[in-house]
Parts: sequence; C-alpha cells; structure tokens
Amino acid sequence: MRILVVEDDTQIARHVKSALDKAGYAVDVAHDGEEGHFLGDTEPYDAVVLDLGLPVIDGLTVLRKWRQDGHSMPVLILTARNTWRDTVTGLREGADDYLKKPFELEELLARLEALIRRSSGNANPLLTCGSIELDTGTNRVLYEGFPVELTALEFRTLSYLLHHKEEVISKTELTEHIYGQDFDRDSNVIEVLINRLRKKLCSQIIKTRRGLGYQLIDPQNDPS
Ligand code: CA
Repeated sequence: MRILVVEDDTQIARHVKSALDKAGYAVDVAHDGEEGHFLGDTEPYDAVVLDLGLPVIDGLTVLRKWRQDGHSMPVLILTARNTWRDTVTGLREGADDYLKKPFELEELLARLEALIRRSSGNANPLLTCGSIELDTGTNRVLYEGFPVELTALEFRTLSYLLHHKEEVISKTELTEHIYGQDFDRDSNVIEVLINRLRKKLCSQIIKTRRGLGYQLIDPQNDPS
C-alpha cells in the first residue's frame, strides 16, 4: 500500500512519513500544493494525507481538482484547530476523513487503515485468505495461527493482494503500489517477491495468471 503525504511543515511531514514507513507503507511526501497535486494526479495512491494550508496551491483547491478529474483515492485532510468551516468545506469537496492539528500519529494511522480498508471493500480489520491472516491494526501476519516474518516489500505485496482478494493484479499495478516514487522499479522483482511469499506462507493461494498477473484466491472458492 502506498500513501502520499502533502504537508509543508517539514517536521510534521517527517514524523508522519516515519510513522507510515514503520507501519509498512510506501510513502511519498510533497511539500507544496503544486507538487502534491501533480503526484496525486499521476501516481496511483491507496490514500492521501492532505494538509489544507499549503504554499503555491492550497489543499482545498488540490482536492477539488483531483475530484473533478475523477481521482477517487481516499483523502484525509489535516486542518488547523478551530477551523470547523475548513473541515466542513473539505468534506463537501470530497475528503473522506479529517484530523485536527495537533494530532496523535496513532490516530492518523488508525484512520488511514480504516479508509484504505473501506475503499477496497473490506469492513473487517482482519484480512484473511485460507490459512493466511493479516491484522491491519497490528500489521501481524499469521499462517495457520503462527507469526510469519516478512520484509517490508513482501509485506506490502501481501497486503495489497489481501486488500484486493480475488482480483487479478498485474505486475505493473503491484509495482506501483509497493514502491515510492524515488525507487528504481523493477517488475522482475515482483516474481521474486511472490515466490518468497509462496515459500514463507507454504501456500498455493497466490495464483499466477499467465500474461495478466497474480490472483489471491480463497481455497474455498478455488475451482482448480
Ligand atoms: Ca500547512
């Protein structure tokens, strides 16, 4: 899962990025509205944290443009204290949730998790497929009830597939959702990651769809 943070306060941006890194997300940061708008317009994010008071283009305008152009990723806005009008306007312009500054990083993480789950159609914080479980609250992965250690990239790959269970996901799509913009992306790495996940999870659950990509199928729905 990949998140865009648009925040001009460098200290807040750094704290948020570090918390999101730790929680297993790929994170891009933009420090003004123009750069933020460009990234949200051209990269497929699973969620966006958008400050409203931004240089060059303000946050509300950025949000309005994205929505006008049909971008439907979940957006959580950050608003200053005592500006309930901004909050209301933000929600009416298409924000999905908001937090007032100063905020607790834990709360930001919990709200983002919920937004990402909801937007991929998952109400339950426990994502499961066969004997695999991912608790989106703790980021723990269990196989048959036992904890499994995954690298950051393995975790992001599994998390994306679990959020989009039963969908066929191309290598390109996976690549775009597990790397930040500054990484050299190599879609050959995806094959390696998938194979490692299959080994660690002793699992045939991740199917290869030749020429199309990968599909996570619940064994009870698997015709093969
Ligand atoms: Ca600001």
